[in-house]
Amino acid sequence: MTPTTVRPPATEVLFPEGTSRATARVQLVDRDQDGRLLLVTDRTPFHPLDHTWPDQPADRGTVTFGGTSHPVLDALTGAVGPGADGLLVADAIPVRRGDPEWSFVAVHVLGPLDDAAAPVVGQDVELAVDGEYRAGLSAGHTACHLVALALNEALADLWTKQPRRTDCLGHPDFDQSAITTSRIEPNGSVDTYRLGKSLRKSGFSATALTERLDTVQHAVNARVAQWIAAGGAARVERDERHLDARRWWTCALPDGTARIPCGGTHVASTAALGSVTVTLDLSAAELTVHTHVTP
Ligand SMILES: [Zn+2]
Repeated sequence: MTPTTVRPPATEVLFPEGTSRATARVQLVDRDQDGRLLLVTDRTPFHPLDHTWPDQPADRGTVTFGGTSHPVLDALTGAVGPGADGLLVADAIPVRRGDPEWSFVAVHVLGPLDDAAAPVVGQDVELAVDGEYRAGLSAGHTACHLVALALNEALADLWTKQPRRTDCLGHPDFDQSAITTSRIEPNGSVDTYRLGKSLRKSGFSATALTERLDTVQHAVNARVAQWIAAGGAARVERDERHLDARRWWTCALPDGTARIPCGGTHVASTAALGSVTVTLDLSAAELTVHTHVTP
């Protein structure tokens, strides 16, 4: 298919409010190297994978047009720039998100449909996200944020000097100072932290963490359980509705309102998490935090 030369507007995303179904208008149809159909619509309930910080996996679901439902095999971040390159997807995007010359779009990946069976620009399609899978990812993501804040608090007195960053609850921000990867799963997450030289230089005592790992793990579990019992309302705030706009997860906690920059989806109350179990694994210069939600 020939590259598009018309730059579509950025996709309006509906997932921050938890929306899972929508009618949308086709803006662009393309194909990837394997011939799979790439569908861009004016709006979408699908959360696409963010290629720069791929923490929350893409939603699953279907797109329906011409009376037939097709599985959405993947949902990716794409961008269309001012040049003639057309739609670029994920790692092929050469600019930072928010670049005003580029439109950031959600790309729904379908199977290798014939051109005759493909939807056309201007056509309305029905997008439906798999609600159960989404609910699991939302629970995993909310738990991940609560665990990060509880971990920051539990590690607060392992800093020998005041670190540069503090989190939204006023504790030294171990999470943002040391995190290397975060992977959200249905009802869980796995987060890895590097306890390297730069973290030690900034005043964090990795030796003390080794000695107190059990105490820290216990403190994190206890704090998260308190926050769940308190049933704090959580939501995603945003200034604008397009895919690459800035968004924040906010949550009412007994200790104050938590607010963390976040592009993912979340449950509406900490009470929805049921119970959360956190396990800390320390090996060499890496701390791995496993979070499991039992809704
Ligand atoms: Zn997040």
